[in-house]
Amino acid sequence: MIDFNRPAYTGKEMEYIQDAVQRGMLCGDGEYTKRCSRWMEERFHTAHVMLTTSCTHALEMAAYLSDIQPGDEVIMPAYTFVSTADAFVLRGARIVFVDIRPDTMNIDEDLIEPAITEKTKAIVVVHYAGVSCEMDKILQIAHKYGLKVVEDAAQGVNAYYKGKALGTIGDFGCYSFHETKNYTMGEGGAILFDKDEYQEKAEILREKGTDRSKFFRGQVDKYRWMDYGSSYLPSELNAAYLYAQLEVCDQIQDKRMEIWNYYHRELEALEKEGKITRPVIPEGCIHNAHMYYLKVRDMEVRTKLIHYLREKGICSVFHYIPLHTAPAGQKFGRFAGEDRYTTKESEKLLRLPMFYNLDMKDVEYVTEQLKSFKEY
Ligand SMILES: *Cc1c(COP(=O)(O)O)cnc(C)c1O
Repeated sequence: MIDFNRPAYTGKEMEYIQDAVQRGMLCGDGEYTKRCSRWMEERFHTAHVMLTTSCTHALEMAAYLSDIQPGDEVIMPAYTFVSTADAFVLRGARIVFVDIRPDTMNIDEDLIEPAITEKTKAIVVVHYAGVSCEMDKILQIAHKYGLKVVEDAAQGVNAYYKGKALGTIGDFGCYSFHETKNYTMGEGGAILFDKDEYQEKAEILREKGTDRSKFFRGQVDKYRWMDYGSSYLPSELNAAYLYAQLEVCDQIQDKRMEIWNYYHRELEALEKEGKITRPVIPEGCIHNAHMYYLKVRDMEVRTKLIHYLREKGICSVFHYIPLHTAPAGQKFGRFAGEDRYTTKESEKLLRLPMFYNLDMKDVEYVTEQLKSFKEY
C-alpha cells in the first residue's frame, strides 16, 4: 500500500533527541527550542518566532494578542481546517465565512470588503497548499478598516509571496509542525510576529501567565503570575526532532518539489482532455510543494476514483467539509455572500500521496494508475 503521508525522517533526528536528553533539560525553551526559533527568524526575516505545541495553539495566541473580544467578527475562508476558526471561537468571536477562489482554493480577496461590518476585528487568511493568498490586496483592505491580519500558514512554511516568507506578512503568522506538514516535530507549531510590542504579552501568555522568560534572561529576580496565560511550550525532545529537519530544509523541499513537478507534468494530458484540473500557482507565489491535489468533475467521480486507487494499493484522501455547513460552523458563524465555489470545489478535490520519503517509483505508479482510470 502506498501511504498518503508518512512523517519526514532525514537522519539526524535521533542524535539530536539523544543530545537533548543528555543536556538534562526536557521542558520547553532549552537549547533546541532556541536554535529552531533563531533559525526561523534568520531564514524568514522576522523579529520573533516562538515555538508552540501546535499551530492551533499558535492561532489561539494570535487571537488573544489581536485582542479579540466576545461578539467581535473575524473573516476567514469557509474552506479550511477547523483550527482556523476554533482559535477565534474560544475568544468569543463570531466567524464570518467568505467564498474561495476556485483556482487556488484560497479566500477570494474581492469578497472580503463586502463582508466587513463595524464588528469586524480581523481577517484570517489560509495559504492553502502553501500557495499564498493575494496579500497586497488583503493588507490594503486591513489597513483601510484598521483590521488585524492573521496568517494561518500551517501549510506555508518556507513558501513565499513576492519575496516575503508566508507567515511574516500579516500581524501574526502561525506555522504547523504536525507530522502531516513539510517539516515536523510530531505535534508542534510556531507563532511569528515582527512588532516588539507583542513580545512581552506573548511570552507571558505562552508561559502560564508568568514572566518566566524575563526571569531566564535575568531581567527580573523572581517570576510571578502577571496576566492571563496558558502553556504553549513544546518539549525539547520535540524541538530537537524539528531542528534536525530545519537544518536540511532545502533537501526536504527539493524532494517534495520533485514529486510535485512529476505529478504536475504527467497529469497535464488528463487536464488537456478535460478530465481533471490541476493546481494553479499565481505569479509572485513560490510554493513549497506541501500538497499535490487534483480536481475531478464531481463528488461521484471522486468517490469512484478513491476506490479505484485503493484497489490498486494507493491511498488518496480529500478534506475540509466546508466549515459553514458543519454543526459548529452554523452555531458560531455565518456565510457572507453566496457559496459559489466553496462547497462545489471542495467536493471535487483529491489529494495524492506526498511525503519526503516517498519513492519516485511509487509516484510513477500513482500517475500510471490515474491515467488508466476510465470514469472521469
Ligand atoms: C494542519 C493545519 C492546522 C492545524 O495544525 P496543528 O499543528 O495540527 O494544530 C491549522 N490550519 C491549517 C490550514 C492546517 O493545515
